[in-house]
Amino acid sequence: MAGYIDVHCHLTGEEFDSVGGIEAVLDRAKANGVETVICSGFDLASSLIAKKLSEQYDEVYFCAGFHPSELDKYREGDLEEIRVLCSHEKCVAVGEIGLDYHFDDNPTKETQRELFYRQLKLADEVGLPVVLHSRDAAQETLEFLREHKEWLKKGGLMHCYSYSPEMTADFIALGLSFSFGGPSTFKNGKKTQECVQRIPARLILSETDCPYLTPVPYRGTFPNEPKNVKYVVDHMAELRNENLEELKNTIVQNAKKLFFKLK
Ligand SMILES: [Zn+2]
Repeated sequence: MAGYIDVHCHLTGEEFDSVGGIEAVLDRAKANGVETVICSGFDLASSLIAKKLSEQYDEVYFCAGFHPSELDKYREGDLEEIRVLCSHEKCVAVGEIGLDYHFDDNPTKETQRELFYRQLKLADEVGLPVVLHSRDAAQETLEFLREHKEWLKKGGLMHCYSYSPEMTADFIALGLSFSFGGPSTFKNGKKTQECVQRIPARLILSETDCPYLTPVPYRGTFPNEPKNVKYVVDHMAELRNENLEELKNTIVQNAKKLFFKLK
């Protein structure tokens, strides 16, 4: 029987103190069949904590990088530290990186593009895939990635994919995979559900993006946890009219192929 995998979560904050701490969170994940979690950094500090968690717990791997909304914290030299983290045996990708034009007070588009450029280049230099965050910037992200396609040799993941079903073809042409989380279980998630149905099995992955975006049937509870990835995958199997065990197995294989350092 294949296990579940949460390819994108954030376990580095204090959100889990109220529910017994990280150890309890990981125990509950295990008890619910989740065998692997990839904890994503969003700045240097969280990337360093994620690394530490990966050294403490066998089932934890991590990504290192700067999220586009967190660039105010970026200091010259941080990318060199990220580069060092990338060589860690459990660092599976540069991430999460990308563009986020959702809030007016986000870092400027210019700043976001510059760090996106430098981190994409870094991923290529260290030979790792990228985990991409893109919000309200579909066309800009697509054009940017097309322009720098040569840096996507190790592939990449559109995490928590939220754009149109039509656009998936454009991202597939760039060699990217897709992961889905809580929003794919929401009643108002029709567009995302159509994506889940359309995407080729070899490109589909599962995540929670916890502590946010808790899936149905626990939507609205905080914090979300890796154990809940089960509800996402079970729902995906239903949407795709696929055997659950087969889908679980496919997702694990897809994850191992993209994040090739996973054991
Ligand atoms: Zn995230």
